[in-house]
Amino acid sequence: MAASGSRHPPISNDATDFAAQRERMVAQQIVARGVRDPLVLDAMRQVPREAFLPERTRDLAYDDSPLPIGCDQTISQPYIVAAMIEALQLKGGERVLEIGAGSGYAAAVLARIAGEIITIERIGALADRAAATLAALGIGHVQVRQGDGSRGWPQRAPYDAIVVAAAGPHPPESLKAQLAIGGRLVMPVGADQRAQKLLRLTRTGADDFRCEQLADVRFVPLVGDEGWASPAPDQAGPTIAESK
Ligand code: SAM
Repeated sequence: MAASGSRHPPISNDATDFAAQRERMVAQQIVARGVRDPLVLDAMRQVPREAFLPERTRDLAYDDSPLPIGCDQTISQPYIVAAMIEALQLKGGERVLEIGAGSGYAAAVLARIAGEIITIERIGALADRAAATLAALGIGHVQVRQGDGSRGWPQRAPYDAIVVAAAGPHPPESLKAQLAIGGRLVMPVGADQRAQKLLRLTRTGADDFRCEQLADVRFVPLVGDEGWASPAPDQAGPTIAESK
């Protein structure tokens, strides 16, 4: 998909300028590609993406791309965050589990819609930073946990929705088991670490799931007991493409 707007906007720490860039981002990158849910669009208009980035890349906060956040990981492209959250079909007030907290940005967007968010991050330094950023923004109903999210977080199950921001070879059985009946699991899945399908699984019964393919995507690997044992050798460094 073509990038919209300036790729390198002028460096500015001015909140008004960031707000204007955020409005343009929603119009040109998200609405223009078909995201329509007003809850998602409002949330994307409100969360300051620049707050989740290292100082040196804040001026790129509203670029149409993922960006490095350290530890060989990325903050997701704004459009993919919006599309994945729209795919969760939230109405407001739900309990949501996110796997792959990264910077904490998507959790902050979810927090504008859902009632309780638990987000799990494998890398301790990222989990700590995400928790600090969310706290600094006064976002109180997100719990950041450090650990292997491929096994979920059974302590607060069942979840109305689960979103996985890293790609696995298959949907983890633990996550399927922690979904409420009627709940949705949105996740990139593929046997190839360089290309995946974004799937939505809806739990229609105790042992029944409906599966829909939503898009072609490319995500960093879900590394854990129910994901990949380790990144493929040619995957060293951040995987940048997300929407394809
Ligand atoms: N949602 C994030 C944001 O808004 O910044 C972006 C997530 S980034 C694309 C994927 C994240 O998944 C990385 O931070 C990575 O460390 C994490 N991850 C990979 N495997 C994981 C696992 N088994 N459990 C928890 N986090 C995992």
